[in-house]
Formats: sequence, C-alpha cells, structure tokens
Amino acid sequence: MTIQDLEPRAVWQNFYQLTRIPRPSKHEEKVSAYLYDFGRKLGLETIREECGNIIIRKPPHPGCENKKAVVLQGHMDMVPQKNADVKHDFEKDPIETWVDGDWLKAKGTTLGADDGLGVAMALTVLQSKDLKHGPVEVLVTVDEETGLTGANLLASGLLQGEILINLDSEEEGELCIGCAGGLDSAVSGSYKGIERPNNTVCISLAFKGFQGGHSGTDINLYRANANKVAARVLHRVLGETDARLVYMQGGTLRNAIPRECFSYLFVPELSLGKVRSIAEDEFTKIKAEYALTDPDAKMVFEPSSSLPCRPVSVEPEIALAFLKALLACPDGVERMSSSVPGLVETSNNMAMVKVADGELMVKTLMRSSVDSAKEALATKLKAVFELAGCQVEFTGGYSGWTLKPDSDIVRLMVEKYKEQYGEDPSVVAIHAGLECGIIGGKYPGMDMVSYGSTLCSPHSPDERASISSLQRTWKLVCSVLEAIPEK
Ligand SMILES: [Zn+2]
Repeated sequence: MTIQDLEPRAVWQNFYQLTRIPRPSKHEEKVSAYLYDFGRKLGLETIREECGNIIIRKPPHPGCENKKAVVLQGHMDMVPQKNADVKHDFEKDPIETWVDGDWLKAKGTTLGADDGLGVAMALTVLQSKDLKHGPVEVLVTVDEETGLTGANLLASGLLQGEILINLDSEEEGELCIGCAGGLDSAVSGSYKGIERPNNTVCISLAFKGFQGGHSGTDINLYRANANKVAARVLHRVLGETDARLVYMQGGTLRNAIPRECFSYLFVPELSLGKVRSIAEDEFTKIKAEYALTDPDAKMVFEPSSSLPCRPVSVEPEIALAFLKALLACPDGVERMSSSVPGLVETSNNMAMVKVADGELMVKTLMRSSVDSAKEALATKLKAVFELAGCQVEFTGGYSGWTLKPDSDIVRLMVEKYKEQYGEDPSVVAIHAGLECGIIGGKYPGMDMVSYGSTLCSPHSPDERASISSLQRTWKLVCSVLEAIPEK
C-alpha cells in the first residue's frame, strides 16, 4: 500500500503532488508557481499576489449560481523538521511517505500534511465536475508557520466570498470558531545612575527553574512569571533596606512565559543579613503559592565579583517606582470568555524586563479574541507605566477572531457533522493567533470556521495523518459545500 492507493484518490493524489515540491516556510516559490499553473490549466481565474499567495476562482456548478460564495483556505508552506540521522534538504528533496495501518507518515521528516492535506482538499474541489457547489475561491497563503506572513500580506478587497472555511485544523470533530489577536507593548524609561558607595557588597539575586510555556496556549495554567517573582522580592528588599538595584534582566521571547530573571544589587555590608532574610522570606511564600505549577523554581542569593553592566545603581526612587509598575502591570489571564467555557479571552505576558546602563525596558505581548478588550488592556498597561515615569509604545497589532457560535457556517457545519457522525462536534476557540484572525481583520463581514482531519505531532518528524479521518473529513467538506445557503 502506498499513498497512490489511498482513497479518496483525487485528494491523496493532490497531496502526493505537493510532497514532490519542496516548500519549507519562506521558500515557497516552487509551490506557488505549481498552484498558479494548477489554476490556469483548469482554465480558472488565477491570481498570484506579490508575496506568493494564490487565489483561484471557480464558477458555480450549473444551478448553484445563487449560493453564497465560499473561500476554501489553507497554507502552502510546511515546517522543515527532520531526525538527526536523516539526510534531507528541505529546499530540494521531495518528502518520502509510507503507509502504516491507518497512518500516512514521512521517512524521518515532517510530512507536510499540515497544511498539505487542507490544500489538497481545496484543489480537489477545483477539479471536481460533479460537486454541486456555489462560487468557490481557493486561497492558499505563504509562510503561515513562521509568522502568518501570507495572511498579513493578503490584499483587502480581493476575496469575493462571504464564507471562509479554513482547512488547517488538526483534530477531526473539533470545529474552531475563534482565535486571539495580539499586540506588542514596549516600555522604556531612563536613569542616570549613582556611583557605588564604599563598604557595599555586590550581590547576584537570580530566579531560575520556572516552568515557562507558550504565552497563549499555556497562560491559563497560572504558572509563575519569573519577572513578576523577581519584582515582588526586589520591591520588598529595596523598600525595607538600603540595598540598591544595579541590574535586572528576565525573559527572552515575547511569546514565552519567562523562566528566569537575574538581578544585581549593591548591599551595605551591615545590611547583608537583613537583605538576605527579607528576600528568602518573600521567596518562601511565593514558592508555596506556586508549589504545584513551578516545583523547581529557585532563588539563588550570592556575592558576585563581576557585573554585566556599568557599576552604578538606579536612583532609589526611580527603582522603586519601576518595581511598583512591574508589580501592577497586568500579567497572565485578564479575563475568561463568557461564551466558550474554559477559553481565555484576554491576557498579557510580561515577557521581558531589563534594567541596565541607564535604561529601563519592558516588553509584553497582549492577546484577546475581542479587539476592544485588547485595546482596553493596552490602555491599562500604558497607564501603569506612565505613572512610573516611563513611555509606552504599541506595535505588531493584529485582530482577533471574535466567536460567533450562531453564524451560518458554524450552524451548517454542526448540522452536517451531526448528520454524518450522529453526534455533536466540539466547538472550540484558541488563545493564540490563526490566519482566520488576520483575514477576518481585513474582511470584517467574513463568516469563518476552521476544520481539518486528524494529524498527530505536526511540526515534528513524527507528524502523521489519519487516512480514515481524511476520508470522513472530505465527505463532510463536500456535503457542507453542497448545502451552502443561497444569498
Ligand atoms: Zn498549519
């Protein structure tokens, strides 16, 4: 048994052709050209955007002219991952597949079923002669995996469809109807610095071993943020003793919950014992609060002979105001969704903090499936840091995909799923960015849903696609297309 023998043959054949074409993210020239030719050879209106996105329009089946137009959407790039012992050049070599029971797998590399199978289903709709669908537009984007680039560069006013079915979900039976938008904040401030007084010891105070995680999908786990913990301990130490803050640095990426935060202090020799016991007292309390989420968290208090910065300390009033702002800065879950149980609606990750060489810096990533709630959170964050004498700027904003559980396409998908499976699908949303969020931002009226067949371990060499799941999913997609309501 090989990929060529699988049913539905047309879909697997289209996927097989995609496995022949190297298409790692940011190297989509070949697959973009292939898709362009695919549309042209079928005699269909085909558009290639400058970034490489492809749009192919297919007229309705005779008698289906009045149906609402549907956009079938997927992404053409794939994540290039391989096992260390496999020789494979993702920019040149085709993906070799094999069938293992109900699974299609690759030989030591990612399979590219994410999102090759979604794209293959869309291409099969373009080829079909008997499917009774209305007007169809297929949109295949570039570079979803490393930054949703294709969706971001999609022109507004180009798509004609009113309904968009994104075919990039990975769990059969799970209908995704919402995602979060994002917004980056950058806080900046300054200080002159005070020379190191005599008779002080330089202390390194480090917070390590925190669990961390993804700032979107793990934010509901209420893990400790190493920057917040450091701020809490330092605020007490600076407030209750004559220790001085010299340096602070925590977090490495906006979308990762910080796992470590490092700081340096100048402590008068006579205050050393007091500083140490206050720091330990506060950290012991924190440790107990996060015993289950961050069991390996630790604080290391030790004298240090060298410094990673200029040997001056922050003026005490500036240091305290900044630490107060770090304490007050929104972090973690701001609000849970009222419409989808268990879904985080709005959150912030106080991702990076730095105090060094005259500069104060904080970078955070806010997310929300409700754009106005994200703006309100941004205003709150700005207020906190402006009160502490800092400036705040926002960049990289993108829209969320607001949940509409009663929309036409969601109801139709649920109805057709029930007909086929005899039970309800689960309706979910995720607290991270998806192409639908960005596309919806450019096409505000678009009625969207995301669905797909079951894939396991995407983005890894263990990626595999369920063959039977694709069969059922293809059947569902066809019955939904045929049942799209009239305008
Ligand atoms: Zn994908």
